Amino acid sequence: MNDMPRGSIPSETVRRIQECIDIVDVVSPYLMLRKQGQNYVGLCPFHQEKTPSFVVSPSKQLFHCFGCGAGGDVFGFLMKADALSFPEALRVLGEKAGIAVVPASSPVQDPEESSSKESLLKIHQEAAVYYHDLLLNHPGARLTREYLQKRGVQEDAIKNFMLGYALPLWDGLLKYLQGRGWAPDEAEKAGLAILRQDGTGHYDRFRDRLIFPIRNLQGKVIAFGGRVLPNSQSDKGSDATLPKYMNSPETSLYTKGQHLYALDKARGAVSQAGSLVIVEGYLDALAAHQAGVQNVVATLGTALTQEHLHLIGRFTRKVILVFDPDLAGVRAALRTVELFMSGGVHAQVVMLPEGEDPDSFIKNHGSVAFKELLSKPIGLLDFALQQMVAKASKKTIEEKLRIIEEVLPVLAKIQNHVERSHYLKWVADELGVHERDLGQELVHHVRKSKKVPKQEPSFIPKTPQFPVEEQMLIQLLLQGKVKPNALQGRVQPGDFTDPRLGPLFSLILETAQGGGEVQIRELLLATQHDSEINLLISAWSLQELTCEEYEKTVQDCLQKLYSKRLNRELQEMEEKIRKAEQEADRETVRALQQGVLSLKRQILLTQQSY
Ligand SMILES: [Zn+2]
Repeated sequence: MNDMPRGSIPSETVRRIQECIDIVDVVSPYLMLRKQGQNYVGLCPFHQEKTPSFVVSPSKQLFHCFGCGAGGDVFGFLMKADALSFPEALRVLGEKAGIAVVPASSPVQDPEESSSKESLLKIHQEAAVYYHDLLLNHPGARLTREYLQKRGVQEDAIKNFMLGYALPLWDGLLKYLQGRGWAPDEAEKAGLAILRQDGTGHYDRFRDRLIFPIRNLQGKVIAFGGRVLPNSQSDKGSDATLPKYMNSPETSLYTKGQHLYALDKARGAVSQAGSLVIVEGYLDALAAHQAGVQNVVATLGTALTQEHLHLIGRFTRKVILVFDPDLAGVRAALRTVELFMSGGVHAQVVMLPEGEDPDSFIKNHGSVAFKELLSKPIGLLDFALQQMVAKASKKTIEEKLRIIEEVLPVLAKIQNHVERSHYLKWVADELGVHERDLGQELVHHVRKSKKVPKQEPSFIPKTPQFPVEEQMLIQLLLQGKVKPNALQGRVQPGDFTDPRLGPLFSLILETAQGGGEVQIRELLLATQHDSEINLLISAWSLQELTCEEYEKTVQDCLQKLYSKRLNRELQEMEEKIRKAEQEADRETVRALQQGVLSLKRQILLTQQSY
């Protein structure tokens, strides 16, 4: 959580925005939420998990993850999810609510990092506009426009995906950006320009390329992919060493293997379709969207990674991989098997007919045929094993052994025993070996490769220990099971022995309007600077209570607090007696001993009443 105080913006504005915004609306684009009782639950976007421990409460307008401890209000969520500062999160939500966010006095100073992120986003947006405008209007982009036309990319899609064109110039973008106030080293930082080796200046990274803006989940441009055009100068001329595809380098906005092309546009359709379709090329994804199949994304020139799966898992548990039937496509499919088997996302495969990619398939057979194809995927495991077993002629024993070597690691990964023996039998039949022999090889392999079982990384912070009755009382208050004014005169902030809970108790009483209702939002705002207490509030507000008879529990808690107070007083008094005895102050000793007796009687009474 960000430590910046929220003070610089009028709290009135903050409150008005809070009232207009529903945390469920803000959170739901980031993960699949399922209704559970009064709350929603889902897989936490902040740590990897397979069972949901992320809770969103519409009534309390807060979220908490009982796995990793993340929690807070709607601002806290956006700050964490999009790495925003508080003023940035406020601005985003203000825009959503139609409320202008004006700083109270001096302009808000963003932390350096987030302001540099913001400026990176701005320069990317400017560059995207520049490239896009060139593609639409520049005479030099005529061939590129014709190329897109030939590939059936319509103007709507060009605009929707904001495709662009980089002129074959060394400083086209640089000059444009400079004209808009950007220094060359800012363009370099964004990965848009490259410093000359002799250090004398910069040149454009993307030249004579079709440009695909890569966007984050919020639709903001964070990087570019550039494709060399067939027959262009670069394709055959001096730049022949350049790769066909080139992406932006990594920046603080963009990390390789963490983004999927068009996911910002696909995610709505993903939740409708219940699955995500992954293709390989930008134009493949574009063609699918254009044909009305919108739950489609493309990998950005890298193999699928664990991070991709984590990202995907926030939206769906079902993935359909579309592969070309050539050897490279098959190999790519096989590489993903182990990834998916340990990833918690179920993968299926669709193979295209010989010589087709999704783009050409849609063009040649139409979108209905493409949808039809997608409706009949086969399991990735079936597919992989079929490919492995089928690819050799299976005649010689050497070949069979080689295939078995390849198949065993995959079989060993199958967790479900029934499933495993099903595939074992199938492979044995296909290879013409005894099922029992293959089974023994499998056992052998599992033993050989047995390592420490892989566990989900544990981000669970050490839960601070609190005295049970103190925590329970605060929890009952936060969850509205006991009203603040019902505790009037029965317990003091000083009765809490934990140094964090006394002040929290005072704050709860202060913010409760007229002592009637606890104001969670106010509490979260007031404790924004103290992330530990802030997280405590969101956790304890949502954590299920272990008790049922609330009034009785309150009684018990109060009694324990009371008897702890008496015991403290007793200790203090005995300490004073020791001191007075040292000073031979008999009168004081006698008076104190009276007090001790009376305290002991009271303590006895409280114990009896349990
Ligand atoms: Zn979490």
